[in-house]
Amino acid sequence: MKNLLKKVVVVTVAITVLILGGCGDKQKPISATTATPAQTYHWKMVTSWPKNFPGLGMAPEKFAKHVNEMSGGRLTIQVYGAGELVPGFEVFDAVSQGTVQMGHSGAYYWKGKIPASPLFGAIPFGMTADELNAWLYYGGGMELYREMYKPFGIIPMAGGNTGAQFGGWFKKEINSIDDLKGLKMRIPGLAGDVLKKAGAIPVNLTGGEIFSSLQSGAIDATEWVGPYNDLAFGFYQAADYYYTSVWHEPSAGLEFLINEKAFNSLPKDLQQIITVAARAVNEDTLDEYNARNNSALKTLVEKHHVKLRQFPPEVLAQLKKYTNEVMSEQAAKDAGFAKVWKSYSEFLANIRSYNDITLKEYYKNR
Ligand code: CA
Repeated sequence: MKNLLKKVVVVTVAITVLILGGCGDKQKPISATTATPAQTYHWKMVTSWPKNFPGLGMAPEKFAKHVNEMSGGRLTIQVYGAGELVPGFEVFDAVSQGTVQMGHSGAYYWKGKIPASPLFGAIPFGMTADELNAWLYYGGGMELYREMYKPFGIIPMAGGNTGAQFGGWFKKEINSIDDLKGLKMRIPGLAGDVLKKAGAIPVNLTGGEIFSSLQSGAIDATEWVGPYNDLAFGFYQAADYYYTSVWHEPSAGLEFLINEKAFNSLPKDLQQIITVAARAVNEDTLDEYNARNNSALKTLVEKHHVKLRQFPPEVLAQLKKYTNEVMSEQAAKDAGFAKVWKSYSEFLANIRSYNDITLKEYYKNR
């Protein structure tokens, strides 16, 4: 046995010497002068958020940092806040036209161009963040998302989620559906169409424009996100009542917009880095909101004496009825919306049944 081992060792050493010797003779070390330097790419990303705004604005910053570090500096991305290169609502056009390579925004801002876009971000009485991600990644949602944006030369990727959003800030209490009549409220997406049916006047403003509009009285009410972000904007200084009811954005999916030509010009490994970084930031953003909303809410109530309210059940029931009407109208008007809505509503019906007998019960019992 010992002899056999000795033989194996001797043979192995001999082979190793041969291989090393062979290499030494035939292969020259790569010199600095003959190596081709890796091509580097420098991209710009415009966003719909104030630069470095907590949550929403930090998602693109984290993404850029991940991509820079994972690519060893081969792909760097400069992030711009709303209005620095283009206004917040022109992010889509800038990416589509190739003025910049990337954008970060919310899908429902583009409902005028792509009627189905709100279904990838937020619709009233729709999916929670977990449900939306399940549909996007494993329920056929992402394929439809790409299909809808393809005519504009844009590849969309999920880019964060705020979780359930609050009903918003009101200067007067809402005690009946009639209290919504004539109310000027900042509210984007299809929720605006729902409120219009209740006689309200929906207004679309980017985040940075909201506070001054609320304070001056140009609008009577606003929704934005939830305690973490709403505290940062200081809305408690302009309105007394904060409605905790979740209805119009049970979750809000954010998105990365990528110019298709720019993406296709990248080598495969950089494309994969972008894809994986987007997936990481999508989850990270939701985790951050879930962790920070409650402490922000405590600050709003205990330090700033904000009055928390809920919409009466009959107001929510009426809003739900109007939502169903809006969805039917949208589906009748636009084939793309109808196609995505079919997938979305079927997935939601199934996952809702499942969650009704599991999580919903658990929330009541724990
Ligand atoms: Ca919102």
